[in-house]
Amino acid sequence: MSRRSSPQRNRSPRAKAAIAAYIADIDSTNSAGSASNLPSFVVQQLRQALLSWYAHQGRDLPWRHSRDPYAIWISEIMLQQTQVTTVIPYYRRWLQRFPNVDSLAAADLQDVLKTWEGLGYYARARNLHRAAQTIGQQHGGRFPQQFDQALALSGIGRTTAGGILSAAFNQPWPILDGNVKRVLTRLIALDCPPSQALPELWDLSTTLLSPTQPRDFNQALMDLGATLCTRRHPNCQQCPWQPYCRAYNLNVQSELPMSEARGPLPHKHIGVAVIWNDQQQILIDRRRPQGLLGGLWEFPGGKIEAGETVEACIQREVQEELGIHVEVGKQLTTVDHAYSHFKVTLNVYHCRHRQGEPQPLECDEIRWVTLEEISQFPFPKANLQIIAALQQAHHLPT
Ligand code: SF4
Repeated sequence: MSRRSSPQRNRSPRAKAAIAAYIADIDSTNSAGSASNLPSFVVQQLRQALLSWYAHQGRDLPWRHSRDPYAIWISEIMLQQTQVTTVIPYYRRWLQRFPNVDSLAAADLQDVLKTWEGLGYYARARNLHRAAQTIGQQHGGRFPQQFDQALALSGIGRTTAGGILSAAFNQPWPILDGNVKRVLTRLIALDCPPSQALPELWDLSTTLLSPTQPRDFNQALMDLGATLCTRRHPNCQQCPWQPYCRAYNLNVQSELPMSEARGPLPHKHIGVAVIWNDQQQILIDRRRPQGLLGGLWEFPGGKIEAGETVEACIQREVQEELGIHVEVGKQLTTVDHAYSHFKVTLNVYHCRHRQGEPQPLECDEIRWVTLEEISQFPFPKANLQIIAALQQAHHLPT
């Protein structure tokens, strides 16, 4: 893949017009509609302003003290869908638990998921594990320095590969994460959603990237989006790009980026069973490795069908999933949780095991565990709230 340009297909006429207007504001004789035609003195000024701001105002983040591509890779993946303040303690714990590629590659997936527990988007942890094994098998345990080899690893897309290689090796690869998209969209006052102008935004990120200080430039661009050019209330008065920012000059910075047209998120109602046996143990099951939350443990249950009561749903689901009959008792709790594409409400009931030997009919594994043992297993966030409710009901420390 070329580092200098994006594919010509799917070019957006509105993005082209926005870039042309941006350039024309600077140089009225120039009507080019491509980022590579930005006057070089503007590119230089944008680079210098951003790098000098970063030298004084850049954030002090733990992974910025490292040049180890493994540690930087872990931080990049954790930061993909999670805020910096949440990531920092996870990042530190992770490096203590898995300090290098070899230790991650050799780890049991359950340990990896347990260490990730609570960060969400668990495919990231599964991909890290798989990619560490690939690095061990194909690259001698060293994170590859070639862009295409990094891009071929599980869970690494163009912006993550660029982020890792620029931060670890100071290679001039552009990035385009959510923060950078927002900053660049405002810089040129793009009047369509960023998803409709990705080739142009990649070109802009490529054109602006400092060839001599790509590491600092990319970090600075991310910091600008995270600290000043924030989604709500951008702090333009402090911004090093304010003199060059078309959104600021048009006073439309708070209206950009334009949002994607999205309908309301679907809402699923789920019946969940906390199944007890006579030894005061609870039945948990491990999801199959594929898909959302794959490989994690959970309480059995499933979607409440139209016209079905929660109790009937739970009885049907445990029969289908585990081949057993349960008696549904009192409600334990209700948990609301939002994923990126849907919301769920978990209606959680205590159940008593009545008949049949549990079988893993629709999962990978099942276990009877005590309430004291349950925290050894990795669970998704919504299920952790069920465990907390159980521990509270039984006065165990949470
Ligand atoms: S001037 Fe305002 S809108 Fe423009 S890049 Fe800076 S913070 Fe963002």
